[in-house]
Amino acid sequence: MTDAHVTNARASEIYRNALDVIAGIEPRIADATRQELDDQRASLKLIASENYASLPVLMTMGTWMSDKYAEGTVGHRFYAGCQNVDTVEQVAAEHARELFGAPYAYVQPHSGIDANLVAYWAILAQRIEGPGLEKLGAKNVNELTEADWETLRAELGNQRLLGMSLDAGGHLTHGFRPNISGKMFYQRQYGTDPASGLLDYDQVAAAAREFKPLIMVAGYSAYPRRVNFAKMREIADEVGATLMVDMAHFAGLVAGKVFTGDENPVPFAHVTTTTTHKSLRGPRGGVVLAQEEFASSVDRGCPMVLGGPLSHVMAAKAVALAEARQPAFGAYAQQVADNAKAFADGLMRRGAKLVTDGTDNHLVLLDVSSFGLTGRQAESALLDAGVVTNRNSVPADPNGAWYTSGIRFGTPALTSRGFTADNFDVVADLVVNVLKNTEPGTTKAGAPSKASYSLAEGIADRTKSAAAEMLDAHPLYPGLEL
Ligand SMILES: *Cc1c(COP(=O)(O)O)cnc(C)c1O
Repeated sequence: MTDAHVTNARASEIYRNALDVIAGIEPRIADATRQELDDQRASLKLIASENYASLPVLMTMGTWMSDKYAEGTVGHRFYAGCQNVDTVEQVAAEHARELFGAPYAYVQPHSGIDANLVAYWAILAQRIEGPGLEKLGAKNVNELTEADWETLRAELGNQRLLGMSLDAGGHLTHGFRPNISGKMFYQRQYGTDPASGLLDYDQVAAAAREFKPLIMVAGYSAYPRRVNFAKMREIADEVGATLMVDMAHFAGLVAGKVFTGDENPVPFAHVTTTTTHKSLRGPRGGVVLAQEEFASSVDRGCPMVLGGPLSHVMAAKAVALAEARQPAFGAYAQQVADNAKAFADGLMRRGAKLVTDGTDNHLVLLDVSSFGLTGRQAESALLDAGVVTNRNSVPADPNGAWYTSGIRFGTPALTSRGFTADNFDVVADLVVNVLKNTEPGTTKAGAPSKASYSLAEGIADRTKSAAAEMLDAHPLYPGLEL
């Protein structure tokens, strides 16, 4: 367990009392909340996008800060009485700027998707306000009529976005067709090299030269490797694109200085977005970091995209970002990467096939087709054995985005519980053992099924008891008794 998670009897008393109060109004919610702690404590959480926030972070979210409306920005609100929210937002933004070395930070987005929408609109607004406004003889966006907007959309003619494809590891919001980003922009996607599974910068550059995007997006949800953001910026500059990096998944590794130099996106991106609840280990939320030239357009996230900020969550962001500035967080982030490497090596040593044959970040993408399984079957069998993961497409996945052929694993959560590289080697053994003992099922008509499966007798129990030993040795929220 890391320092941020060390707790004591006081926390137990606080939460016991709070749950009693809640139970007096709606007992099912108190029960579900208690049960969630038991469930999280009892499972090997390997979901790459999840973590365990510290109790101070969780406590900060549960206050009357939630009761305040504060649309606008610090010192410029559309409601009276926002002085304390101003303090909260200022402190959170200050920590974000200093932690990431960013000139500007906007801490209002409620989630990663919101952060990306704020960024997209900010980039569009900034472009429109420069050449666009001049052309139309308007001073600011508010003076534009509907007809002006129509002219702008037609004349600027560039709402093109180039992002990483979903099945190569990109995110829905990076131009995936069914997402709004794939509708508000003409989109094109870059993938990875079919043989190595690695990002091919020449391919990215070729796509950028041909497509000439307004926005080039880098960042990923399921790519197990580091990205060279200096190269990405070079490509963006060559074609006059704005570089946006979505570091939602790996922000903790940037904060902990595991990704430095060309691997740190913040100095290279015009705009960087992130979630705060993944490897960064904060409350559920988003942040936009920007170079100075984009600050004023990012600031208009509300009312462009957002309504009132979640002040209690901004407060919790401030606490989490303050934690991430402590030296212990750097050690945590390094351990996350070391553990991922140990886990990947452990899987490969036991014959498993990984996309890109390894990892150098916090996540591992296992191709389960060599076990004769779909991602769906593997995910379910692992869950039966107390291993919580999610199925994920692999590049050019023959089973599509629903059944998939992959399982994505990540180390941030269990590393927060204090798991070491040795523990992760044991976890790799358990995972491979479950998959080896899972048989794909058949449909009622006798055809191969992509969903049904059977796990050999006794495997689930044996896996759970082996896991319990490690989980007991690394308790979640030690000392917290409800
Ligand atoms: C998780 C993620 C998001 C979305 O975050 P939410 O908080 O779920 O909206 C956006 N981009 C990337 C790359 C992500 O991994």
